[in-house]
Amino acid sequence: MNMMDPNARTLDMQAKTISPDIIAALSTDVRVTVAVPGEDGYDAARTIWNAMFDKRPSLVVRCLGTADVIKAIKAARDEKLLLAVRSGGHNIAGHAVCDGGLLIDLSLMKSVRVDPETRTARVEPGATLADFDNEAQAFGLATPLGINSTTGVAGLTLGGGFGWTTRKLGLTVDNLISADIVTADGKLIRASERENQDLFWAVRGGGGNFGVVTSFEFKLHSLGPEVLAGLIVHPRENAPELLPAYRRIVNEAPDELTIWVIMRKAPPLPFLPTEWHGKAVLIFARCYSGDVK
Ligand SMILES: Cc1cc2nc3c(=O)[nH]c(=O)nc-3n(C[C@H](O)[C@H](O)[C@H](O)COP(=O)(O)OP(=O)(O)OC[C@H]3O[C@@H](n4cnc5c(N)ncnc54)[C@H](O)[C@@H]3O)c2cc1C
Repeated sequence: MNMMDPNARTLDMQAKTISPDIIAALSTDVRVTVAVPGEDGYDAARTIWNAMFDKRPSLVVRCLGTADVIKAIKAARDEKLLLAVRSGGHNIAGHAVCDGGLLIDLSLMKSVRVDPETRTARVEPGATLADFDNEAQAFGLATPLGINSTTGVAGLTLGGGFGWTTRKLGLTVDNLISADIVTADGKLIRASERENQDLFWAVRGGGGNFGVVTSFEFKLHSLGPEVLAGLIVHPRENAPELLPAYRRIVNEAPDELTIWVIMRKAPPLPFLPTEWHGKAVLIFARCYSGDVK
């Protein structure tokens, strides 16, 4: 194990030698994986959606539960290490990973527990939108999340969260009941309308700066398993004629209908004729979450 990463940094960007004792103390928990550069799991933890960022933390703590998160935060605080928190890894600016600090990787904490009786779900931060929908849709239930199934529930929720059903059901944070949060002093607290209201206000859109969320509790709504959805693809030069009509239709549309406009080069999707691949297109991406019968 290479314990002497020359790039290790403190919170105020001073050079730092990570003591072997810190790594040993973190590694005593049988559930957690601690990895330094070159070890198994190190690259998986630091690799994020936006491949323009290739950051190299000095130490990765791959957590399986809240206890691991508390230990990792305490270690980072005691050693004054720069700290980053990663869940689904879809933050476009690469904020989930740091260079030369300690990375708390939550991507292995993927549990989603749906209670069809109370119509609520308990979700761990490593769950993606696909993980959430897969469990909730088994009961014909959903909460408004984003458009792309690979995105993380955690970062999306902490940023507010909007998606296909937001017009009808609100933002993701409008459907957040509570969050379990490990604060910078290593304490686990619960934030909701009744407990730690100021923190509950902050995590509903304020991003990841207020502690590490280890569990989210959401309200669920009846939806699916079928919705009417799909793409309509036009040549981009038709935009001047299509967009005024689009504006009129969405102004009058019921809350159940969401239509987004995407203008881009056509990707090589199997349902698009090959002669269209790479050409400028205008796409109407639609989802109708009302009654489809
Ligand atoms: C392809 C794509 C599609 C998208 N579509 C949508 C969409 O439809 N709707 C929408 O609202 N957003 C959308 N987004 C934006 C997305 O919601 C944000 O990038 C969000 O931050 C991703 O969350 P994550 O858990 O995957 O990210 P991460 O990169 O893991 O984390 C994002 C930020 O939150 C912090 N953080 C992560 N987990 C925690 C935690 N448990 N506790 C405290 N802080 C934490 C991280 O440190 C980081 O700063 C999309 C992004 C991409 C790349």
